[in-house]
Amino acid sequence: MRKQLIAGNWKMYKTISAGVALAREIADGLRPADPEVIVFPPATALAAVSAAMKGAAVEVGGQNMHFAREGAFTGEVSALMLKDAGCTHVLLGHSERRHVFGEDDELIAKKVRAALDGGLVPVVCVGETLPEREGRRTLEVVERQVERALRPLSADEVGRLAVAYEPVWAIGTGQVATPEQAQEVHAFIRGRIAVSHGEPAGGATRLLYGGSVKPDNIAGLLALQDVDGVLVGGACWARASFLKIVRGRG
Ligand code: PEP
Repeated sequence: MRKQLIAGNWKMYKTISAGVALAREIADGLRPADPEVIVFPPATALAAVSAAMKGAAVEVGGQNMHFAREGAFTGEVSALMLKDAGCTHVLLGHSERRHVFGEDDELIAKKVRAALDGGLVPVVCVGETLPEREGRRTLEVVERQVERALRPLSADEVGRLAVAYEPVWAIGTGQVATPEQAQEVHAFIRGRIAVSHGEPAGGATRLLYGGSVKPDNIAGLLALQDVDGVLVGGACWARASFLKIVRGRG
């Protein structure tokens, strides 16, 4: 049985003090029966938010990392540094990394490998652009992204990570995928993982949906067979809307 996971991507929002305050408000609002909750603050706030969440039911992850352990890579942080800042997880291949910063499948695969080697759980983001969906290439694109990111990994490693299906056209647009669109792609990803890494890995990997998740659409998404949770952007930056999403209803 896969445990539900609700993740919040703070993107480039929240100073250290605002981030610590938000994380505390979220932690204080959680109940024992709630799903697993992870927040992804900006790099500057990671250590402070992690320290504030010690003993709380909120895990902390980085939004990106370099694949090297250390080196002359100005502006980058490594898995070692994210661990040192108290992170348990890392987002990799987010659409803004792919489409704004030009990250490709090969680079993302190296980061996934390095994250696992560094003791972090990767949340690997995949998803098609609007022209790709309109050109009926969604499954082909998602298959390529999943296959390239997971190919070098063992079945056990694949079973431990999460894949977030985030259609690019749904991120920050208010245009959420329909339940049918989300379920189709999630079932497809699970099936591809079962073929590439075996049925147990396909059954264990948690598949998150992301893209304009809000309190008023969360229930329909979480009811889908192959949706094990969500990755939330805009609606996670305020306590009230994020906790409604955690509870699974508006
Ligand atoms: C995201 O950034 O991963 C995301 C899903 O954003 P939003 O919820 O705002 O669409």
